[in-house]
Amino acid sequence: MTKFIITTGGVLSGLGKGVATAAIGKILQCRGIKVDVCKIDPYLNVDPGLMNPFQHGEVWVTNDGYEADLDFGHYERFLDVDLGKDHNITTGMVYLTVLESERRGDYLGQTVQIIPHITEEIKRQIYKIARMKNPDVLLVEIGGTAGDIESMPFIESLRQMRMENGRDNVLFVHVTLVPTLRVVGEQKTKPTQHSVKELRGLGIQPDILVCRSSKPLLDETKGKISLFCDVGKLDVLSNHDVESVYEVPLVMEDQGAGDNILSKLNIKERNYDFVGWKKYIQKMKNVTEEVDIAIVGKYTDFRDSYISIVEALSHSSTTFNKKVKIKWVESLELEENPKKIDELKNVNGILVPGGFGQRGSEGKISAINFSRTNNIPYLGICFGFQLAAIEYARNVLGLKGADSTELNPETPYPIIDFLPEQRGIKQMGATMRLGELPIRIEKNTLAYKIYNKDEVGERHRHRYEVNPDYIKDFEKNGLDFSAKSLSGRRMEILEIPDHIHFLATQFHPEFKSRPMKPSPVFKAFVKAAIKKKGDA
Ligand code: GLN
Repeated sequence: MTKFIITTGGVLSGLGKGVATAAIGKILQCRGIKVDVCKIDPYLNVDPGLMNPFQHGEVWVTNDGYEADLDFGHYERFLDVDLGKDHNITTGMVYLTVLESERRGDYLGQTVQIIPHITEEIKRQIYKIARMKNPDVLLVEIGGTAGDIESMPFIESLRQMRMENGRDNVLFVHVTLVPTLRVVGEQKTKPTQHSVKELRGLGIQPDILVCRSSKPLLDETKGKISLFCDVGKLDVLSNHDVESVYEVPLVMEDQGAGDNILSKLNIKERNYDFVGWKKYIQKMKNVTEEVDIAIVGKYTDFRDSYISIVEALSHSSTTFNKKVKIKWVESLELEENPKKIDELKNVNGILVPGGFGQRGSEGKISAINFSRTNNIPYLGICFGFQLAAIEYARNVLGLKGADSTELNPETPYPIIDFLPEQRGIKQMGATMRLGELPIRIEKNTLAYKIYNKDEVGERHRHRYEVNPDYIKDFEKNGLDFSAKSLSGRRMEILEIPDHIHFLATQFHPEFKSRPMKPSPVFKAFVKAAIKKKGDA
């Protein structure tokens, strides 16, 4: 029978509930416990695909083409699992199901209400996830903070679940904040107390408190929280700031979290093996040298928009015992002040990630031009792939005004154009070319050297593609399309053989990168950047 660990959050959002949930999963996994993980997002959007990355961080894409919250990225990276659409529940989804049933007449004239109809549907969806893989433990994270109006039906459903399944089958973990007042340097427990009180008001007494703080919680602070929140001192876990999120499982483990959770859930450990994870962290901390990579993007003030890119760079650099130092370059600033391009002179690699829309795109194109003409390693991802083709068309093929029809519908040379199947689509949600798709790689290319395979699967999220009418012209002039879709119709990788390392992908390799299993595309790019630095 599957047991449940529910993570709720208190005090404020963005505390790192996703990381805490993933870390607990890792601790269990390292004890041979089979875990699965899902996320509840109490907002009304049916899925997060249309949400602004500036408000919400990046959109994560799963193998099955679901556009998920970035917490899915933490889960997949920490636990090395592939998740999918069926691992996410939103208020929008729950209501959509209930309302469709109501319209079909399934409720036979009953008054349809939040309790019991919405709460039953929530429980049904959670149990369904548990049945899919039958894990020993299903981790369930609830987005938002306890007390939010929109999360009420979910909290109520989970309270009922605990009653239905028994206390040793459903465990509540509450993630809170313990701020330190700078003047007195004291760790303040009141916000945690209040937030636990709020949760209790909803009928839930948390079993474990994960407390975010800048420094490790003092023994005295733990004692105080234990007393006021009615949990054991061992149940108060310090989740203080660490250099890398991957250290969080170890920080918790050192406080006895693993044994404590297993004993509360009455589960026996199978085999204890934390060695690989510990070694990876050690390797990360012992890096010798930095390599400078510029990320040229539009939301560079809001780092969560590019979290997977940053993680993928770090997975790769760690394998070479190096650390990536990122220089964030705001593409709009490159447009407003062309002199700023000089800041790219001293970097060892330039990366243009995925993106949408005209704003900032010319700045990205000038950064691509800079890397191409100055022989600086380049990695372009999705939008960064499309813009690289545009830059080449304009400046090497001499097609003045070449563009993507996304950016300029009137362009005389639509190098990048709507995917044919996208033409009729009016609805925006979940309608891009999404998810893992097979890619065939041509022999004797950089792409083949990178993957060393004829066929690979990578994840996609785009509406536009290289216009096949221009391919011959590109290939005659020194830019190769070294990987294509199986039909040969879609361009997936471009490269310039006559360059230190110039490679761009229509897909998003960052979504498959894991600690200890870096994405081959990122690994090759970081390696080239290290080489560039050595040559300098
Ligand atoms: N805007 C481009 C497209 O829709 C690129 C998308 C992306 O970078 N994810 O094709």
